Amino acid sequence: MKANEESAFRAEVAQWLAENLAGEFACLKHRGGPGDEEAFPELRKAWERRLAEGGWTGLGWPRAHGGRELPVMQQVIFHEEYARAGGPGRMGHIGEGLIGPTLIAFGTEDQKARLLPGIRNGTTFWCQGYSEPGAGSDLANVRTRAVRDAASGDWLVSGQKVWTSLAHDSDWIFVLARCEPGSRGSKGLIFLMLPLDQPGIEIRPIRQMGGGAEFNEVFFDGARAAAADVLGEPGDGWRIAMALLGFERGISTLGQQMQFTHELEWVAQAARDNGSSRDALVRQRIARAWAGLRVMRANALRMLAGAAQAGQDGRDADLALQREALIYKYYWSNWHRDLGQLALDVLGPLANVLDAGEGGEGGDVRRTRLQQMALFSRADTIYAGTNEIQLNIIAERGLGMPREARGQS
Ligand SMILES: Cc1cc2nc3c(=O)[nH]c(=O)nc-3n(C[C@H](O)[C@H](O)[C@H](O)COP(=O)(O)OP(=O)(O)OC[C@H]3O[C@@H](n4cnc5c(N)ncnc54)[C@H](O)[C@@H]3O)c2cc1C
Repeated sequence: MKANEESAFRAEVAQWLAENLAGEFACLKHRGGPGDEEAFPELRKAWERRLAEGGWTGLGWPRAHGGRELPVMQQVIFHEEYARAGGPGRMGHIGEGLIGPTLIAFGTEDQKARLLPGIRNGTTFWCQGYSEPGAGSDLANVRTRAVRDAASGDWLVSGQKVWTSLAHDSDWIFVLARCEPGSRGSKGLIFLMLPLDQPGIEIRPIRQMGGGAEFNEVFFDGARAAAADVLGEPGDGWRIAMALLGFERGISTLGQQMQFTHELEWVAQAARDNGSSRDALVRQRIARAWAGLRVMRANALRMLAGAAQAGQDGRDADLALQREALIYKYYWSNWHRDLGQLALDVLGPLANVLDAGEGGEGGDVRRTRLQQMALFSRADTIYAGTNEIQLNIIAERGLGMPREARGQS
């Protein structure tokens, strides 16, 4: 794509956002997303519909499934401009970024026809039911059971999921469950999709240290998944579940970095305002954070270019197999956690004082957001693969070191 086409596209996105992230949606700027998911959920769902009407969902999806099939660079530009404009945390990201691409890759024609339009139109919201009390890093240890109902052919699900982000704001859940009694590890699993609004499903919020409850425990007691809502074959759920995780480190990472840029600017501004920028150590830490952000961006572009090239060469653009991608999660999550600590140090004693206006009118929005960021960034090195798991992956896949002993999988 030529540079002038890219800048024209960039201007188009920026203009659309300036015109639409206004009026009733203006209050959504810089709201939502990890640590702030409870902000305006219904209005953010309406925003998803506005995005869809504007043609800004399913950017990378094939045209045959209602997407725009945009080249990687245009998708990157959209996410960068979205974050630059302060676009709100996306309520639809699990649908659009995770289950959508998985349905496109593995779904039946019937599943695609029934389930993709709601995701693309911003009318159906999804959550991810993988983790259980005894199955997090060792996901293959899932114990939730799926039993076939002989009369209807449906699957009856019983068990418990945990840390299910946004389940309380979702319509559907996808779960990994054990469908072959006595099976162990990654064998005998099934990937099921279930509507959440049904008897046999109970969602209980988990309160976080930041005060919000963005994730949940989800209990299943004979909940029903239609026979037509198995993704892949019964027994082959692990392969589908892993393929879905491969979509996790996608193009939106560059938008995430733009959000980090805002946060770093807020930290720097707070340091200027309260005079802590006169402290040489604070200045060094801010400069180091800035350098880290540049490294992150260079690595992300290298990773995405590799994926795009693989796609052009007709190879599977599987980001997970690239060495650059192996570093990515470990690098950004630790960088962000350090930024959270830096924010608290810069804010000093005020870091411990909750803003009475909760960032609302007359309140200190920047301080509230930095507090939320500092608290939530502690989770960054846990979800989507903990630090230790990421280091194991780098050692084993990136450096060819001996594989760590696995439990039952
Ligand atoms: C904010 C947030 C949102 C989340 N959202 C979802 C969601 O929507 N859906 C969902 O299914 N899950 C979700 N999760 C769960 C997440 O996937 C798990 O927390 C994660 O996989 C870790 O599992 P665990 O919490 O059971 O910890 P464990 O796996 O029990 O790990 C505990 C500690 O042991 C270490 N450890 C474990 N195994 C090894 C090993 N082999 N080698 C070295 N060290 C090891 C870990 O690094 C960690 O320090 C979310 C988590 C968070 C924090």
